[in-house]
Amino acid sequence: MKKDVKRGLFMIKDISVVILAGGKGTRISSINKDVPKSMIKLNNKPVLEYQIEFFKNNNLTNIILVVGHLKDIIINHFKDGKEFGVNITYVEEQMPLGTAGCFYYLKNIIKNDNFLLVNGDIIFDINIQKLIEFHNEKEALATICTHPNSHPFDSGLIFAKDGLVYKWLSKEDERKYYKNRVNAGIHILKKEVLDMVNTLGKYDLDRDILKKLIPLKKLYAYDTPEYIKDMGTPERYYQVIEDIKNNKPYLRNLKNKQKAIFLDRDGTINKYVGFLTNIDDFSLNNNVIDAIKLINNSDYLAIVITNQPVVARGEVTFEELEEIHHKMETLLGMGGAYLDDIYYCPHHPDSGFPEEIKELKIKCRCRKPGTLLVEQAVEKYNIDLSLSCVIGDDEKDKLLASNLNIPYYEVNSEYDLLDRVKEILNEKN
Ligand SMILES: [Zn+2]
Repeated sequence: MKKDVKRGLFMIKDISVVILAGGKGTRISSINKDVPKSMIKLNNKPVLEYQIEFFKNNNLTNIILVVGHLKDIIINHFKDGKEFGVNITYVEEQMPLGTAGCFYYLKNIIKNDNFLLVNGDIIFDINIQKLIEFHNEKEALATICTHPNSHPFDSGLIFAKDGLVYKWLSKEDERKYYKNRVNAGIHILKKEVLDMVNTLGKYDLDRDILKKLIPLKKLYAYDTPEYIKDMGTPERYYQVIEDIKNNKPYLRNLKNKQKAIFLDRDGTINKYVGFLTNIDDFSLNNNVIDAIKLINNSDYLAIVITNQPVVARGEVTFEELEEIHHKMETLLGMGGAYLDDIYYCPHHPDSGFPEEIKELKIKCRCRKPGTLLVEQAVEKYNIDLSLSCVIGDDEKDKLLASNLNIPYYEVNSEYDLLDRVKEILNEKN
C-alpha cells in the first residue's frame, strides 16, 4: 500500500498541467465584461487562481497557461508563477485556435508522457491521484472526468462501459433515454495525442481529438461525484460562490469521508407497480425531482440500492434494466436532479420460474437486506456509514438499515420522499 502511494507521488511530479484560459465566456459577460472567463472573480479571487492553488497543493507545479483573449490580464496577474508557488509557461495564441489548436505548440513544450488538460473556467477539488491511477491502469490515450449534471438535456453525453467510452452525443444530437454523464472539463492525455494536430489552425478538442479515439478503444471516462462546476450562467456562478463559502468543493473531495442517502427504487423513486418489467410502466412518484435536487444541493450523495429479481426471473435482460435506469435518469435530469450512482442486485434465491436464469438464482449477499451493495458504495466513495441513512418503502429496506446500523426513513401514504429528505436535512443541520 505504502509503496503505491510513493509511486503515485513520483508520477504526479512528472505531469504537466495545461490550463485552457483563452475562453471568452460570452454567456456570463453580464457579470464581468472586461476580463477573460478564467479571471472572473469568486469571493474576490479569480477562477484560475483557485485552480493554480489546487495544483500547487497537489505537487503539480509545472503549469502551462494557454492564453488568447485579453491575455495581458492573465500574464500580469500570474507572471512566472513564483508568487503562487508554481512555474508557469505561457502559450500565447495570436488568433483563436479552438480548444485544441494549442496542441501544435504544446508538442514542443510538454516533455512528460502524460499531461493534465483542464478548462480554465471551472471550480473543482478532486482526488487527482485516483484519476491518474485510473488513467494508467486502463492504459488510456485519454481519460475524461465525467459526472452527472443538472442539465443533461442540453449537454453532450458520454456513454461508457467499465470506463471505456463507446458513444458520445453532442449537445445537438437527438436523445431519448440516457445515463446522465457529461464531460466535467478535466482530462488526462498521453503526449502522443498531441500528434493529432499537425498544422496551425482551429481544432476542437471534443470533435477533432477525443471523439476520434472512441473507435480505437482508447478513450476512457473516469466517473466521479466530486465537485467540478462551470459557471456557464449567472445562476450557476452565484451557486458556485455559495458553495465555496460553504467549503463544499473540499468536502466533496473523495479524500474526505462522504455521507450518503441510500435510496430504494420501486415505490420510493418510481410509482410502485409490482415487478416492473415494461419500461413504459416506469414513472416518477410525486415530488421526487424536488427531493433528489435537495440531496444534490446538500452534502449527501444520492445512491440507489435496488433489488431487481426480474433479471433472475428472465423477465428483464441486463440491457433492458439499464434502459429502465436510463429512463429514470432522463426523467430526473429533465427537472435538474441526478443520482450519483445506481447499484442493483439481479439475483433471486428461489427457483421454479419458467424463464429463469439458473446462474442468477443464488443466495447472494447483495440482495437487500444484504449489505454488499452498500459496502461496495462505501468503498468506492469513501463513505462514512455513521453519517448516512436509508430511505425506502419496504421491510427489506428497513432491515437493510438495521443491518447497517444506520437510520431508516420510510416513504408511505403519509410521508413522501420529499418529506423524508427535508426531515433528514433538518435533523442534521
Ligand atoms: Zn444479489
